Amino acid sequence: MKKVIFLLLDGARKDSLENHINDGLMPNLKRVIKDGGTLTTAVTVFPSTTGPAYLPFLMGLFPGNCNMPGIRWFDKLKFSRNKGSFYSHRSYVGIEGLFFNKDIKKSQLTIFNIINKSRSIFNEITKGLPVKFDLTNISKVFHKFKSHFYGSHHIDNIASDKLLNSLESDAQFVFCCFLGVDSNSHISGCDSSTVVDSYVNFDNKLGLVVDKLIETNQLEETLLIITSDHGHSNTHTHLDLVQFLEQYGYKVFSYPLIHKKYLTDIDAAVMVSGNSMSHIYLRKDKNWAEKYTFPSSEKLIDDLLQLDAVDIVMTKNEKNQIVIKSTRGIAILENKDSGLQYTPLLNDPFGYKGISDFLTFEDSLDKTFDTQYPDALVQIFQIFNSPRCGDIVVSAETGFDLRNKFEFPEHKSSHGSLKSDHMHVPLIVNKQILNNRIRTVDLFPTIVDFLGFNCPNKVDGKKLDIN
Ligand SMILES: [Zn+2]
Repeated sequence: MKKVIFLLLDGARKDSLENHINDGLMPNLKRVIKDGGTLTTAVTVFPSTTGPAYLPFLMGLFPGNCNMPGIRWFDKLKFSRNKGSFYSHRSYVGIEGLFFNKDIKKSQLTIFNIINKSRSIFNEITKGLPVKFDLTNISKVFHKFKSHFYGSHHIDNIASDKLLNSLESDAQFVFCCFLGVDSNSHISGCDSSTVVDSYVNFDNKLGLVVDKLIETNQLEETLLIITSDHGHSNTHTHLDLVQFLEQYGYKVFSYPLIHKKYLTDIDAAVMVSGNSMSHIYLRKDKNWAEKYTFPSSEKLIDDLLQLDAVDIVMTKNEKNQIVIKSTRGIAILENKDSGLQYTPLLNDPFGYKGISDFLTFEDSLDKTFDTQYPDALVQIFQIFNSPRCGDIVVSAETGFDLRNKFEFPEHKSSHGSLKSDHMHVPLIVNKQILNNRIRTVDLFPTIVDFLGFNCPNKVDGKKLDIN
């Protein structure tokens, strides 16, 4: 029986993984690659953060196309109708994480709707999965909470035990998240010795999985996938975006002080993800239902770009085009004939060389893959497809993030931005992949096809060629 075992090493950096392999710290991963496997790089989605960045794997869609533009979001239209509405804002960090499945676009299927014999371990996106197959259904809130605040390898040890048991079942698809690298990176820095230990611990668990697949004669027919949802980079300075906007004169709504909406006549909302990206929502002419567009927002955008922490700022103009600005330059991005029209004005905001005019989604990936901003044009386009996207979207400079006041424990390392440190992820499979420009969203159609199912709805990814 064909199987797909998907090991999500949350927050793993490609270069860290390669260094650990070269230093002999990950012999089991090395074995998978040497025995006919592939180690390559894929590009994740924006925001490059857990939750939204799981959607490519589990739904084959960019987060903007599932209306899930961040781990925190605000819905201006819902808020304008009723500020008490349960659907007017969300933070999946904490108790509201339980509503993730409810909030994703109803018309789209998850991989669990398609592959009935599935199992899920330490993953929140379980729409379509029978409760008994969510192997951490009850315990995940407790263990994830503990791992978030205190770090540890303990959560990965539990994941591994559940995973090994599931290999004896009739499950065709197992999605197992290893959260130690991400939690420990946030707490102690992405290159700390604790994080190296998390990679080593993962490798030990991988060894047990491979041994068991060999022992039970399953390895040949199994597609083993090891990848990540985002990278990480160390953070030396936190800019508190909420505080910045308050000093600017706004009355700002943000988590965790959500009761403020009843006490103050709020006119801005800040929703940070990861913590290197943020949505900013602004009230226009006393009306939350109105879009706040460029050039009305130009002064604020220019002032944001004065801050060392802010790298790229994006917004829409009155013609519904996306305006992208950095201290390097400014450009216009718009949808055209199932591709993108990209027009740098003055200089390119990303520092791209010779990229302009009409680009297909493939051209865009190909031309930007090896730059500091891989796939940024498609990723910016897709996030603005979400009705919950901010009027202004901010991507942070490396070394900085955008949340300070209420972040406990302090983030020593962050992710979420458009930078390659966060957007490039490692991809290892136990077979040969013939493609070399890969998005994480390509894995969904690849898995569905490998197991002999059809994709019933349109997806953003393309099936990979696997030998
Ligand atoms: Zn994280």
